[in-house]
Amino acid sequence: MSHQFYSIECIIPPHIQNNIAEKGTPEQRKKVMGSISQSAAIRAQRVLLTETKALVEPVTVGGKQRNIFNLNFGSNLPGILARSEGAPPTGDPAVDEAYEGAGATYDLYQQEYQRESIDGKGMRLDSTVHYMKGYDNAFWNGRQMVYGDGDEDLPEPQRIFNRFTIALDIIGHELTHGVTQFEAGLVYRDQSGALNESFSDVFGSLVKQRQRNQTAAEADWIIGEGLLSPNINGIGIRSMKAPGTAYNDPLLGKDPQPAHMSDYKTIDYDNGGVHINSGIPNHAFYATAMEMGGYAWQKAGQIWYVTLRDRLTSTSVFADAAQQTYLVAGNLFGGGSLEQQAVRAGWQAVGIQIDAGDSGGNGGGTGGDTGSGGGTTSPGCSTALVQLLDNVKALIENRSR
Ligand SMILES: [Zn+2]
Repeated sequence: MSHQFYSIECIIPPHIQNNIAEKGTPEQRKKVMGSISQSAAIRAQRVLLTETKALVEPVTVGGKQRNIFNLNFGSNLPGILARSEGAPPTGDPAVDEAYEGAGATYDLYQQEYQRESIDGKGMRLDSTVHYMKGYDNAFWNGRQMVYGDGDEDLPEPQRIFNRFTIALDIIGHELTHGVTQFEAGLVYRDQSGALNESFSDVFGSLVKQRQRNQTAAEADWIIGEGLLSPNINGIGIRSMKAPGTAYNDPLLGKDPQPAHMSDYKTIDYDNGGVHINSGIPNHAFYATAMEMGGYAWQKAGQIWYVTLRDRLTSTSVFADAAQQTYLVAGNLFGGGSLEQQAVRAGWQAVGIQIDAGDSGGNGGGTGGDTGSGGGTTSPGCSTALVQLLDNVKALIENRSR
């Protein structure tokens, strides 16, 4: 299994940054461009560290071990240790939210799926907060979590984002990029990339639902609730229940996510729409969980987790995920079980038909693996951001002419 250690997966996708860069105030535009170029610098640093092997070996400790570092607006990771496992709250919301969020994510994986941390071997959970001044993003860098403070440095009427630790599902989302990196290794482009994004949304949402003790019907299924400031017309950055409806705002534009294959977007930017077409598998999970009823992390979550761990490969596409979740449901709950039928109905709701011929549950093949994983690296969000930065610069040059 090849792992993509080069990718950094940011929570704020290029289409949102693009809109801010085009329509924002001078301060907002300056900030978004700063975030974009910083992300490019992070990637360059990662390539260097990875090549010298400084970054690739996770610290394995066993049990729940969280370290939260404070960078005090610097950029030299990881920063000064602010809270370690078992220490009391610090009173700094970013430190304490990062600590609690990493713990809730660890607990979901450990208590529900018997997984020991991100790598399955007890990797220490490191997070850094107060990354740079007013950094508008959060990311998993292949080794640890990093959170910006959002627009706390701007005057209130100009703020778009709150601090990035504020939404528990964002923490679960980013840490799940780590799980995917160590398991299916889904390449961060096109459908495999949209599946990578979707698994992060699924488990990010499940971390939140479990912490709130909500059934599928009670949950909001919003990703990034609380992240957008009151200046923005939106409830979060994505909706799994109703993809395409999370926000509609003069500054951010309208949520572009499709909820059905008939609206699948074939595009170049955003690594082929990884944050856009993920609406389709997201909604399939939602529909499956609603069909099953009860707590979504129990049966539906178990099926999705086993599929991510054992059945998908780096090049799997939506149809593979559909077929394999169906087969896993058959394995876990029986061929023709209500659970298996729910999985089928869930994918049907987004326009993906499952070949029901084999409901047995011993289908090993995932198809689509070209075996080319070896030397390829996932470009992650930063490559798209560099392209975006170039586009924005061109735009500004054109305007000033
Ligand atoms: Zn992501």
